Amino acid sequence: MKIYSTLTRNKEEFKPLKEGQVGMYVCGVTPYMDAHVGHAMSYITFDVIRRYLEHRGYEVKYIQNVTDVDDKIIDRALSHGIPASELSERYFESFKQDMASLNIRPAEFFPKATCEIPEMIEMIRRLIEKNHAYASKSGSVYFRVSSMEDYGKLSGRNLDDMMAGARIEVGDEKEHPMDFAMWKAAKPGEPHWNSPWGAGRPGWHLECSAMALKYLGGSVDIHGGGQDLIFPHHENEIAQSECATGVKPFVRYWVHNGLLKLGEEKMSKSLGNLVTIKEALKTFTADGIRLFVMSSHYRNPLTYSREAMEAAQRGAERLSKAASLASPEGSPSMLDLEAIESDFISAMDDDFDTPRAVSILFDLARQINTGRDGGFDITSLQQLLKKLCSILGITLSATEEDPVEARPFIELLIDTRKRLREQKQYQLADEIRDKLSKLGVVLEDKPGSTGWHVKGPTR
Ligand SMILES: [Zn+2]
Repeated sequence: MKIYSTLTRNKEEFKPLKEGQVGMYVCGVTPYMDAHVGHAMSYITFDVIRRYLEHRGYEVKYIQNVTDVDDKIIDRALSHGIPASELSERYFESFKQDMASLNIRPAEFFPKATCEIPEMIEMIRRLIEKNHAYASKSGSVYFRVSSMEDYGKLSGRNLDDMMAGARIEVGDEKEHPMDFAMWKAAKPGEPHWNSPWGAGRPGWHLECSAMALKYLGGSVDIHGGGQDLIFPHHENEIAQSECATGVKPFVRYWVHNGLLKLGEEKMSKSLGNLVTIKEALKTFTADGIRLFVMSSHYRNPLTYSREAMEAAQRGAERLSKAASLASPEGSPSMLDLEAIESDFISAMDDDFDTPRAVSILFDLARQINTGRDGGFDITSLQQLLKKLCSILGITLSATEEDPVEARPFIELLIDTRKRLREQKQYQLADEIRDKLSKLGVVLEDKPGSTGWHVKGPTR
């Protein structure tokens, strides 16, 4: 299996630190409002990666943090007149519901920044001790970027270039403009915790370093997030973690998803152009949204549009229909199922090539429809389709047009028709057959039994 790593800019053979086990860390949300479909894209991507690794036999430990103290949370809580903790708790619950609605499995653990303060203070203490950090007069603590030889390696920048673009602000208490805060001295009215440097709160980059160290032992196999987190967030995570532990690399595979755009812009809260997950779910199903995301390779940017979403939704319905058709009882179709499955695996093994994997699913759905129309037993094809879909977290759940929910009623009508025929009431029996046919349900009389199927999609 190969995975592209942002750090090496190459597809690398996947080899976790401990055989058979994968430690996976994905940067989580800052819950201050409802999550949008850009979040859906990122978390679906990492859900698919996690599910696929598990399918390949790895035991995956998946950690996702919750930044529950942050300027945006504090500002919004103030304007609502409620404590910051209440606001972040409310939106974190809403986030978890959204994730469940999208069939995204929850992380094994969601550590919250406010519950991990002692670990973060300990990390700062170690970094100060090793001269990688310093406390300012105001009681903030900064990471000293010049103390790290390879600072900038993830984003491909070096300090000289960064210096050229940086502005030194008057009154700045930092030694170097690129030094970043690990501990922010408390401002009046803000949530704060005590520390050896005075009251304050942790910086955002610090929480991910401290949590990865605590929950995954300081060396992470896969660290995920959106491409917008490469700099400065992930760059700074590397700096803190590698300097604190002395263990390199902090992360074996840096995996970044491309960003979701709405029109020409990145979908983001700050730009105000977003569609929330709850809004999207009013029109589209989890399968539809997942297929939309997987139709593009995760490293590429993806553009959200109604047309693209509708196309994905139709695709989801086509797959569900193919999976739920009643099978004729003809001789089994002769497709090489193992070859189809191994194509799927090799697509996913190649840096999670979901567009190829999804096209294999649609091929399979076509084969099912053709096989059914030809009177072949399609059961084994359907089993394979269901298996491959479940690896990608596609539920194949019933849609409105799906016959599954109507199944008991159709069976009841078939049984009634049978009894009418036994009583030689052929006219009424034929009427049932014809009316079902008009509704799209075709009955197939065979010696001793009656089967049925839904008319195939007209495409
Ligand atoms: Zn992070």
